[in-house]
Amino acid sequence: MKTTNDRARRPERRSLLRGAVMLAVLCASFLPARAASPAAPLKVVATIPDLADFARRIGGDRVEVKALSKGTENLHNVHVRPSMLIALTRADVFLEMGLSMEAAWLPEMLVRSGNDDIQPGAAGFQNCSDGWEAIEVPDDLSRREGHLHPEGNPHFNIDPKGGLQMAAKVHEALVRVDPAGKETYDANFATTKDAIEEAAERWAKIGAKWKGRKVCVYHTEYNYLARRYGMDVAASIEPQPGIPPTPGDIAKVVKTMREQEVGVILTAAWSNNRQVKDIARKTGATVLELPNQVGGADWASDWIALQDGIHERVAKALGTWEEDEGSPKQ
Ligand SMILES: [Zn+2]
Repeated sequence: MKTTNDRARRPERRSLLRGAVMLAVLCASFLPARAASPAAPLKVVATIPDLADFARRIGGDRVEVKALSKGTENLHNVHVRPSMLIALTRADVFLEMGLSMEAAWLPEMLVRSGNDDIQPGAAGFQNCSDGWEAIEVPDDLSRREGHLHPEGNPHFNIDPKGGLQMAAKVHEALVRVDPAGKETYDANFATTKDAIEEAAERWAKIGAKWKGRKVCVYHTEYNYLARRYGMDVAASIEPQPGIPPTPGDIAKVVKTMREQEVGVILTAAWSNNRQVKDIARKTGATVLELPNQVGGADWASDWIALQDGIHERVAKALGTWEEDEGSPKQ
């Protein structure tokens, strides 16, 4: 038998139910998307456009890809936008370069996304530097602190051999999270590998003329490229990665460049500053501003185009360029 009290509670119950439904709807909207099927593409979020390029190549129409950083940004200091958090909240796969490249802006946002599927250790999380042998690893703990490369140089996307590393890691993550797409991912990875290897043959011919040539860099993002071809990075304008040079540091760089007759300074757009111009004026060196990721220049539309463009521009700055050396597609 219904009492007066029961009737009185009904509106309260309805209100509680309404509240619970609203809460469930709200929660559902923040939950990660379900695993991909051909009808619902796998949502892939990459920190940099280079990784996004490989995710698109290998994932094909099974994936929907977003890069967090724009190609023109300082990779160590990407401007955090609300749209990034939304993308991470919904992601099935997350790709980072690792080696502390994104340490200053990413980890807190990853936690805030509340998406358990893409936290470190989860199947959807991929550190694309796993298995990569970094150069310039600080040899003791005290030298790891206070600068941006505590685990060694993270800019392996500028290494002509870095493409295969990134592609392999992206392929591995896609197969792990979406095994139903393995056949597609395997086929696209094979095509990507062939394209990289074909391009690497023309890059090797261009770079073979750079052995022993001396360059100066601002940050150390071109050091993998230099090392690959036996170039000598005679001076770095930053005394440590991310630490601005003092007037004393600049004087030392100028002295080294004069003594060793270094004629080219390689720099990214975001570090092509007054100090670089000052050093160029004092030494007579040419400043070559290069992108340090895909999208950093209008010609760097994908990773192979980025490498083609960098090889051509460095060769021209060093005076080794021959007109028939470029990509047949350019
Ligand atoms: Zn760096």
